[in-house]
Amino acid sequence: MTQKEQKWLVLLFALNELGGGGQRSRVLQHINDCAYWHKNDQNDTLCRTRNEMVWRNDFSFERQHLVAHGYMKTGGQGNWEITETGKRQLSALVEQAKHEAGGENLCYTAVFFQKLFPVQKTWIELEEDQLLIAALSLSENTAAIASSPVRSGPRPVGMLSSRSLNGPVYARAPKEARAALARAGNLCEVDPAHQSFLRRDGRTMYMEPHHLIPMALTDYFGVDLDREQNIISLCSNCHNQIHYGAKADVKRLIARLFLAREQEISAILGRSICVEELYQIYKVC
Ligand SMILES: [Zn+2]
Ligand SMILES: [Zn+2]
Repeated sequence: MTQKEQKWLVLLFALNELGGGGQRSRVLQHINDCAYWHKNDQNDTLCRTRNEMVWRNDFSFERQHLVAHGYMKTGGQGNWEITETGKRQLSALVEQAKHEAGGENLCYTAVFFQKLFPVQKTWIELEEDQLLIAALSLSENTAAIASSPVRSGPRPVGMLSSRSLNGPVYARAPKEARAALARAGNLCEVDPAHQSFLRRDGRTMYMEPHHLIPMALTDYFGVDLDREQNIISLCSNCHNQIHYGAKADVKRLIARLFLAREQEISAILGRSICVEELYQIYKVC
């Protein structure tokens, strides 16, 4: 998507979320508070001429184009409102964003990308994770396999799961997870002292694979996220905690795990990512 299309998408989406519109300041504040755009009040440089953040000016500028196209109403007094045509355009842009692999030119955030999908997709992603855990446990070959040399650059996105009804869901490959667990010595990466139990083979400690950058963001980053560099070995307790735990605890877990993987993860993404972005992705800001 072009940057202009992305701005339109974010602005129309925000208006729709606010029930059709609102005062200019309220709309921009909503985009800022929800962290929908990479530039925001915290990281943008001050635009000297109008004594306002550049990103805010950019959206005001696009607003004029949206009005010209009939996607937003003309009304004055700083009231920004979406039109019926605008709502149709929004649906078209949402579909485009869902199905276009993102990558480097994205200015809307991962949090925004997650908003585009219905809750059902989140459930399917969680089910896929459970299927992976089951696949590792039911397979005869649970023993740690010798890890082949790890390719570190980005790789094209993988195979779609058969259950991609509400948007693309990617299949998880047991061999990537197995390699990741083996690499951690089948110990919990939060703390190797965490207790687990022996698998059926009587030799390997049971651990669960967790994709630090969620697989649901595959199309956002435009690369395969099912890579052993992105998979963390966790005991059942830590795994459940990272998905369902209290915000402060999850934040602590992520910070710790991410610190150890930052470079490898940036390498497979083909771009750098910071821990704050991960906090947003996990909704623990
Ligand atoms: Zn997980
Ligand atoms: Zn643990």
